[in-house]
Amino acid sequence: MTDFSAITACGESCSGCAKKLDGRCPGCIEADGHVPEWAESGRCRVHACTRSHHVQFCGLCPEFPCPELPSLIAWNPDIVERMTALRNEYKRIVRIVGSNYCGRWNKTRTACRGIVIRGNRLLLSFETVTGQWMLPGGGLEAGEEERECCIREVAEETGFLICPTECVLEIDEFYGDCRWVNRYFFGEVTGETAVRLTEREKEVGMEPRWLPLDQIIDIFSAHASYAGTDEMRRGMYLREYTALTRLCRGVSSGRQVILLNGPSSSGKSTLAKELQALVKERKSENYKVVSIDDFMVVNPMETIYEDDVYAVSGDLCEQALEILGSGSGVIIDHVITSERIFRQLKEMLFAYPLRTVHVTCPVKVLIEREQARGDRCAGSAEASAEYLYPQGGYDLTVDTAAKSPRENALTILERLF
Ligand code: SF4
Ligand code: SF4
Repeated sequence: MTDFSAITACGESCSGCAKKLDGRCPGCIEADGHVPEWAESGRCRVHACTRSHHVQFCGLCPEFPCPELPSLIAWNPDIVERMTALRNEYKRIVRIVGSNYCGRWNKTRTACRGIVIRGNRLLLSFETVTGQWMLPGGGLEAGEEERECCIREVAEETGFLICPTECVLEIDEFYGDCRWVNRYFFGEVTGETAVRLTEREKEVGMEPRWLPLDQIIDIFSAHASYAGTDEMRRGMYLREYTALTRLCRGVSSGRQVILLNGPSSSGKSTLAKELQALVKERKSENYKVVSIDDFMVVNPMETIYEDDVYAVSGDLCEQALEILGSGSGVIIDHVITSERIFRQLKEMLFAYPLRTVHVTCPVKVLIEREQARGDRCAGSAEASAEYLYPQGGYDLTVDTAAKSPRENALTILERLF
């Protein structure tokens, strides 16, 4: 998930820029658009325009995509796609606004927090003196990468070494004149080390604890009861409750994610419906189907690019999380053509068991089906078969030309449920 604190008006990121690192450029955000590149004109026009529209970057502008945009950001021919992807991702940030928020922030603090699950238990930091629970994590230090921060904070507070995913959720809190950015990472325990508590953490008797997920969600759900008496705890419990209900509320239901990944026209949609009905019939379990097609505007005259799919695949994962959180399982019908789309899906759904099915058939059959349906750009099926990711390593492969949807659904049921 993008670190939006470093995203400039034109959708670039100053983080890691050599000119900024060696002091030649102050950074576009810090200099409010007055960077050396634009010295003659005084200020970057893109930056000035976003400020006049009160938005951080063009993708959030009510006029986006305005007719001037391609010429203003001429160095990026894919600027509309880039901004669309950024906008979709930005929409997924959760915002909690405190009653004392003054309407504009002057300070930003970033913290990284680890969600470490073992079975259906969650790793927590518990203050034995105050009786307060929290997800392990803490503030980003100067020059530190976010994942490094997450590893360090979890290790210092709990003594567990973890391997974190990329950031899977951002919750921004607004209190007073401050914006608190909370970046959440799932983590897998890889080892142990010595706990290193701060003086304050020692005073409150901080200890690591493993608690059943449902129990800690219950504890955090009482956030409103601290209103007026312990505002710090109220805000923190609300934030952690929001994160856990969004990312892993349904873990104890034992439901799983079945990913049907295959090229366009390979018969995934029919198979998904057949499998959904069969699971209900044989196991009395509710599974819902989420299809990438529901998130795309498909025009038979236009090629679908990987960028288009990546821009909406996070929304598909959000919908899958909502369904899983309600206690149902999910069958995902997807055409994944890159490592980044696959990784994002695995990381966002990290809390749930993921079973992968490669849905395939001979290319000749794909082409015939594509011609027969007539609602896809010619060549999509063959291209998506060539670029499908991953190409191997699935839990199961089914051939939709060799067997009927019912037969393939039965195989999936027998092998993966
Ligand atoms: S100064 Fe303008 S072009 Fe340069 S990074 Fe900032 S918004 Fe983009
Ligand atoms: S989308 Fe166009 S009008 Fe809106 S801020 Fe960007 S350049 Fe300005």
